[in-house]
Amino acid sequence: MEEARSQRIYLDHHATTPVDPRVVEAMLPYFTDVFGNASSVDHVYGAEAKHAVDEARGRVAQLLRADPAEVIFTSGATESNNLAIKGVAESLSERGKHIITCATEHPAVLDTCADLEVRGWQVTYLPVAPDGLVDPSEVARSITAETVLISIMAANNETGVLSLIQEIGEVAREHDVLFHTDATQAVPHVEIDVSKVGVDLLSLSGHKMYGPKGVGALYVRRRSPRIKLHPQLHGGGHERKFRSGTLNVPGIVGLGAAAALVHMERSEESNRVAALRRDMWEEIQERVGRVNLHGHEARRLPNSLNFAVQGVESRSVIAQVRDRLAISTGSACATLDVEPSHVLLAMGFDEEEAHSTLRIGLGRFTTEDEVVGAVELLARAVSRARRLAP
Ligand code: PMP
Repeated sequence: MEEARSQRIYLDHHATTPVDPRVVEAMLPYFTDVFGNASSVDHVYGAEAKHAVDEARGRVAQLLRADPAEVIFTSGATESNNLAIKGVAESLSERGKHIITCATEHPAVLDTCADLEVRGWQVTYLPVAPDGLVDPSEVARSITAETVLISIMAANNETGVLSLIQEIGEVAREHDVLFHTDATQAVPHVEIDVSKVGVDLLSLSGHKMYGPKGVGALYVRRRSPRIKLHPQLHGGGHERKFRSGTLNVPGIVGLGAAAALVHMERSEESNRVAALRRDMWEEIQERVGRVNLHGHEARRLPNSLNFAVQGVESRSVIAQVRDRLAISTGSACATLDVEPSHVLLAMGFDEEEAHSTLRIGLGRFTTEDEVVGAVELLARAVSRARRLAP
């Protein structure tokens, strides 16, 4: 079993990442030795836990160039997105009940907006161009006197396309509308400086950046403007009264350690991974052939490939390689149903193209040998699937 495991190749880093061993090491004392409740300020157990949480908050803030007081710890990006969108909508409902988002968002944003629609809010779902980008001038055109929030993701989890968040932030500022970005996939790979980009709220998640699952953060701007959120979890108000619940100290320490590593190593790692990705794509074009890359050529995450393999269903390819190679047909949250990807359909591709699509995500620990091995497996599987195709 162990041997079989060591022969596997993991190229599904959009779905999740392994926890970096350095992060595990940082977390370990907080399960046993330093196990206090960070809110128990009457003794040193609590004080030690609080100190660790404060340090982690500082590390996440540093990654975004934010103030530590602007970081709210959550259970992950799903919760961060819910808190940002419903929290703003409910706190500004007197001012207006219109939200702008886009068709290619993650379900954690789309389903949250759908819930608000049922409850009387109006939501505009902007289309994207064939390259996956939302046009900032369309954002501007959709703003009405009722608009309180724009929520556009920084990087798409299926295609890796990087949105024009600088420009969309400027539009939001000009119109005095708040701007939330789901930066879950972007943060591990590209710098987002909230002091420069007009982002008011930003979601991120531990397990997409070599930290643990079940922990994340929401950046909430505190000055110009100071944002108020209607809490979605009540009871104790631990996190600036916006979020309640005993803090997950080991998880938060892990998120902080992961953030510090991303901060130190991101630019070098992104360059290395981008070079691997370029080589892999060249090999795929040559060895697999008849492939069509989805999404903007240049504005994309360094680790992502999303492409259709003409003449085969991606499921039949994946079925052949699944014991050895982890790649996916789309986003993890949608792989249990057979619906074609809403992201590819929104980009104007048809169902056939969507059903022939593979997503590959390289990572921090991906090696050249793994890339070579993955292309070999893929090329063989595609050629077999093409031979068997009706
Ligand atoms: N947003 C995006 C863009 C994601 O990729 C994911 C994870 N698939 C989420 C939100 C949800 O994050 P979490 O798993 O931390 O709830």
